[in-house]
Amino acid sequence: MPDTPPSVPDFTQWPSFPFEGDIRVKQLADPVAEEPLRKGEGNRDCTACQAPDEAYIWVGERWRVRAMDRPTGLPMVLILESRSHLDLGDLPNLLAAELGVMTVRLERAIRSLDGVARVHVNRWGDGSAHLHMWFLARPYGQLQLRGTFLPLWDSILPPISEARWRENLALVAAWLAEFGGRPLAEPPRIQWQAPSSFSGPAAEPVSEPAEPASVIEAAEEAPAPEDDEEVTEAEEDQKPAPGTGSA
Ligand SMILES: [Zn+2]
Repeated sequence: MPDTPPSVPDFTQWPSFPFEGDIRVKQLADPVAEEPLRKGEGNRDCTACQAPDEAYIWVGERWRVRAMDRPTGLPMVLILESRSHLDLGDLPNLLAAELGVMTVRLERAIRSLDGVARVHVNRWGDGSAHLHMWFLARPYGQLQLRGTFLPLWDSILPPISEARWRENLALVAAWLAEFGGRPLAEPPRIQWQAPSSFSGPAAEPVSEPAEPASVIEAAEEAPAPEDDEEVTEAEEDQKPAPGTGSA
C-alpha cells in the first residue's frame, strides 16, 4: 500500500477534481516571519501601472479590462483592473461602488457569449498588489467544470481557437463600450488569401509561446517561492507582462 496520509480530502473524489490516481497532501512549510513583497509593493515594479491602454481590450476613465495574451481552455478569461494603484480594501467609496457596477456589467457581457453557462468572479492578489479581479467563463453543459476547480481546468483544457477568442474579446469590448469608455479589441479580420488565419489589432500573441498564460500561472497570482525569489524575479524581468502583447 502506498503511504497515503489519512487527510486527503473527499473533494479529490469529486467529478470536478481534475486529477486522479494516488494523491498525497504536501508537507506544509513553516510560516515565514515576513512575507515577500508583491509586484507593485515597496520597490517592486507594478505591471498594471506600466501597461499602456493598448494592452487592454477596453479602457475607461477609472477601469481597464484585459485578456490573457493568447487563448486558454475556457471560452473567456478576463481581468478587471482599477487604473489607480490600489488594492481592494483601499478603494475609496466612488471606486468601490463602481467596482460593483463594473463587476455586474462584465459578468453580463461574458455571459452573453455563445456557449457560456456561468461566469465566476475571483480576487486573489498574492502576486500583485494592484487590484485585479478575474472573470472566468464556464462552458455551457460542461458540468464537470462546475465549481472552484475551474481555474485549474483553464490550464488543462486545450485552448479555444484564436478566431473564436478574438471574436469573443471584441463582443465583450463592444458591450462595455455601450456604457462608455473605449473598445480596443476588434473582431478578427479574415485574411482571404490564407483563410485559416486571422489577425486582430489587440492582444497580439507574444513572441514567447512557452510563457504561462492561464489564471493559475499568471504572474499576478504566482507567489514568489521564498527560497529562490531572486531567480524568480530575474526570470520575470525578462518576460513581457501578461496581456501587454507586443505593445
Ligand atoms: Zn499599479
